[in-house]
Amino acid sequence: MKALCWHGKGDIRCDTVPDPELQGPRDAIIRVTACAICGSDLHPYDGYMPTMEAGDIMGHETMGEVVALGSEVSNLAIGDRIVVPFNIACGDCFFCRKQLFSLCDRSNPNAEIAAKAMGHSPSGLFGYSHMLGGYAGGQAEFLRVPFADVGHIKVPDGISDEQALFLSDIFPTGYMAAENAEIEPGDTVAVWGCGPVGQFAIQSAWMLGAGRVIAIDTVPERLEMAWTVGKAEVIDFREVDVYEMLQEMTGGRGPDRCIDAVGAEAHAGGSIDAVVDKVKAATFLGTDRPHVLREMIMCCRKGGTLSVPGVYIGMLDKIPFGALMNKGLTVRTGQTHTHRYLEPLLAKVVSGEIDPSFVITDRAGLEDGPELYKKFRDKKDGCIKVVMQPNG
Ligand code: NAD
Ligand code: ZN
Repeated sequence: MKALCWHGKGDIRCDTVPDPELQGPRDAIIRVTACAICGSDLHPYDGYMPTMEAGDIMGHETMGEVVALGSEVSNLAIGDRIVVPFNIACGDCFFCRKQLFSLCDRSNPNAEIAAKAMGHSPSGLFGYSHMLGGYAGGQAEFLRVPFADVGHIKVPDGISDEQALFLSDIFPTGYMAAENAEIEPGDTVAVWGCGPVGQFAIQSAWMLGAGRVIAIDTVPERLEMAWTVGKAEVIDFREVDVYEMLQEMTGGRGPDRCIDAVGAEAHAGGSIDAVVDKVKAATFLGTDRPHVLREMIMCCRKGGTLSVPGVYIGMLDKIPFGALMNKGLTVRTGQTHTHRYLEPLLAKVVSGEIDPSFVITDRAGLEDGPELYKKFRDKKDGCIKVVMQPNG
């Protein structure tokens, strides 16, 4: 089959590789009908993820048609269209039973390596390094889905691939970010980052009762989408001082809830060392732009909540913990517990409350993948979200 494979920093290739096979009774194989490139794919693409190996298949936002099933998968049938959550969860460990699926204790055979490298042992993830299980990703013609009996849902006939695909990650991620923000009716919610995750955080903030949403970025097309589709007020961080502007917009109090849909690396660029250097060098509201997390601590109103879906890897320094403590802020974060959101968010798509395909700007085949990675990373030519049809 064809698959997008990692060959090093900035080097994705469309290779021919062996088809996946069932490896256990709880596996399924799907023929991938749609897959997407995620902001998280940029971490291995930019060389941040340790334990990637040449030839690893990328991708964790995937859906498709079931073509083979293990003997213990009774919730699915051959021919079903399913969305595959980006995190792999056994459904039965201490954490899965608490619905903390992204912390599953059994789906990552290399959890110990991850714990040594990063200080924690998350669940397995598709296409996201050997430290996170070494699972082949879904930017391919076929995908092996382990634990296919846990939470996977059939997509109803009337719903297109483009409407369903983002249930695999960015819609639940934006939604959990808004839930974690503890929005109360009428709250002002500020969202840093108008990439795909930020766009869904904006939509979700409204769903959860925000009275006002303010979105921050600098890429014109992304601010435009936040404004026109997301009905958010927008701030271009290169044009104005974000802290001053937020103070002014909220009568000097600051937004009630702040969401970091940027993460560490998107801001700093370069290596992990460069990120750390930049964080250390930045003074609050100094000449360099402050780190988003730090900016949120300073901008948020007293007693407010910070929600961090943006990905951080390794250590961060110089967090103004005094301000965080004295302002009585709450911080909530984490990889998304995607399985938890599949049914409720599918219901919102089916009812027409949201059509998640609004975020798609680029459609292509798998062979265009290498070029599209670059376009998406560079945020060029209005590229906000890329969807590929490996079998189309
Ligand atoms: P993206 O790179 O497309 O978007 C990031 C946006 O942030 C860009 O538009 C960029 O211009 C903007 N930005 C950069 N610096 C900024 C700053 N200082 N202030 C405001 N905006 C700034 O990525 P995405 O796909 O939207 O993902 C966003 C983050 O969410 C990434 O870190 C990704 O890894 C993470 N993510 C987390 C989960 C999870 O489970 N928690 C799931 C998916 C993605
Ligand atoms: Zn993702």
